[in-house]
Amino acid sequence: MNGAKLVLKHGRSKSILRRHPWIFSGGIAKVLGAPDLGGLVAVCDAQGEFLAWGHYSPHSQIRVRLFSWRESPVPEGEEFWRERLAQAVALRSAELADTDTTACRLINAESDGVPGLVADLYGSTLVLQFLTAGVDVRRDLFVSLLWDIVGGYVDVERIFERSDVAVRRKEGLRERSGLLRGKVLEGPITILENGLTFEVDVDSGQKTGFYLDQRGNRHILRGIVQRHVRYQAPPNLLNVFSYTGGFSVYGLSAGAEAVVNVDTSEDALQAGRRNLQLNSLDTSRSTDINGNAFQVLRRLRQDGARYDVIVLDPPKFAFTKRDVRKASRGYKDINMQAFHLLKPGGHLLTFSCSGAISDDLFQKIVFGAALDSGRDIQIIGRMMQSSDHPVALTFPEGAYLKGLICRASKA
Ligand code: SAH
Repeated sequence: MNGAKLVLKHGRSKSILRRHPWIFSGGIAKVLGAPDLGGLVAVCDAQGEFLAWGHYSPHSQIRVRLFSWRESPVPEGEEFWRERLAQAVALRSAELADTDTTACRLINAESDGVPGLVADLYGSTLVLQFLTAGVDVRRDLFVSLLWDIVGGYVDVERIFERSDVAVRRKEGLRERSGLLRGKVLEGPITILENGLTFEVDVDSGQKTGFYLDQRGNRHILRGIVQRHVRYQAPPNLLNVFSYTGGFSVYGLSAGAEAVVNVDTSEDALQAGRRNLQLNSLDTSRSTDINGNAFQVLRRLRQDGARYDVIVLDPPKFAFTKRDVRKASRGYKDINMQAFHLLKPGGHLLTFSCSGAISDDLFQKIVFGAALDSGRDIQIIGRMMQSSDHPVALTFPEGAYLKGLICRASKA
């Protein structure tokens, strides 16, 4: 530690007293000492009173990420981080003990008190993302600590890095990925999720390989399909933005008559087909459409296709507040198209993973879409990211994934 200290402007300490973990560059009066990239800094109010400790990101608008509000001990070194990481992992002990699910998020960055670090476990492979300078410069420490800690629960074969994400540029860091420790990867690995098998390509799949944040919602879809089977008839399912067919595997295994997958990624659609096979599901019940959902949904409508259950899980449309208007139009469009395609009594599971779109705004957008479609729609449930992606109450920005379960009226 080089004793660097950061003094805030007058009136800028409120959010820190409320334990929000971010300090923006505009709130800083002066930096005393010369903090290194990712270095530890003590943050003080305008009177010089200690507030919190954080890691310094000289190139980012989010200049400091806070993670300790106690003046002592100084939160640095192996002991401090071992305890912090072990605590986060221990909170997942139920997930780690669940033999039906072998993949889950173990560290969820700010919400687990480790800003910038994501750790996802896929069977015996741990995949890390270092998203900020603070965790990037401590990479070796985190790798060896996690190897030990996670090794206490499962047999860890390797730690892989997937820091190939654009946000690192804001931190002045290059994208990087590859093996950090352990055995070389030989092709995709397989995991179990709620008893179903999935192939995960941690080397080049999206995110760290799989959308773990949708696990709970895929389980919800399963229940909806089962209810259609039991009380109506085996439903047909339209899975838009299907990626590797997560929702489709759940749907078919729950008794859906047929599924249609829509995605722009041919690799993802292909992996989706392999996932059906891995679960001994009838691939003749599944159709893939490789195309842009905005156009595909229109074409399906023109062709007169109608569905009992539709999942709309688009990628992030709004990256910042500035994108909100345009993103809203995009969400409205696909939701309106989906309502047109929904059979009477059918269900739409519609999502937004844009942090900049609030729950409230999302509901308004979906309302606008329903209105324009002329359909009579009810909300029968709300969804969020899975419980291994917790949201610290001090960090509402952590709640990025939101979803509505909508039902079309019978008439
Ligand atoms: N529901 C999936 C995750 C979806 S991620 C799951 O549970 O695993 C979003 C997906 O949308 C990605 O697979 C991406 O390839 C796809 N995508 C992005 N833009 C698209 C577009 N305009 N039309 C269709 N698919 C798109």
